Amino acid sequence: MVERRLTICHLYHQNMNIYGDTGNVLTLEYRLRQRGITPVVIPCEVGEGLPKDVDIIVAGGGQDSGQLVVEKDLQKKKAELRSMVHDGVVVLTICGTYQLFGHRFVTSDQGTIQGIGIFDLETHGSSERLIGNVIVDSEWGELVGFENHSGKTRLAPEQPGLAKIIQGAGNNGESGEEGAIVFNTFGTYIHGPLLPKNPRFADELLTRALQRKFGAADLGPLDDTEEQKAHQVARSRPR
Ligand code: GLN
Repeated sequence: MVERRLTICHLYHQNMNIYGDTGNVLTLEYRLRQRGITPVVIPCEVGEGLPKDVDIIVAGGGQDSGQLVVEKDLQKKKAELRSMVHDGVVVLTICGTYQLFGHRFVTSDQGTIQGIGIFDLETHGSSERLIGNVIVDSEWGELVGFENHSGKTRLAPEQPGLAKIIQGAGNNGESGEEGAIVFNTFGTYIHGPLLPKNPRFADELLTRALQRKFGAADLGPLDDTEEQKAHQVARSRPR
């Protein structure tokens, strides 16, 4: 049988990676291996070129200071990232990177960190921190996790959100929306990390990447007993 491989780019692992976000990459690797598909994980840091033939890009959250460190580099990668997004590469951005995939993040001290405008949204820092456990309702079932951000994100009218808030603040604590989606690119405030305890959503990312690359996904079911237990524990935590 021909070996199937998926290439995962872990973007800005050094500067944008908090509250366990690396767990998202580990989960994708694990769920591919269990299906006999080989994951190839390539880190890409500030100053490095994006790898070729990437199937999935994963990037985490960060402090405002981490976002400042990657700002210029992200602008250099803007055209390439935009073309990958349009080409259907699967991208998962969490919190700080989600914000920078919008137009800009104006921090609470009024500094502007430029984004790359893949999502039609912008974020403004506030004096209030939106922090705590989150439950949302998405097309892929309930998602659970943890948020901690000062930024309040406003989606443009035509920009679809990712999910509806059941508990937590999400994009801004007012709109009832969480995250954003365009093509196969997802943005969310959910850390925790997101994918280990939301396996159906993890498989959605893999399905999209496999369909794009091989024309079919045929992901067999896995025993997700532990993942479902983790989900239940997370959803039972107080805000
Ligand atoms: N620094 C950003 C904010 O506070 C993002 C935080 C994060 O990634 N958790 O809004």
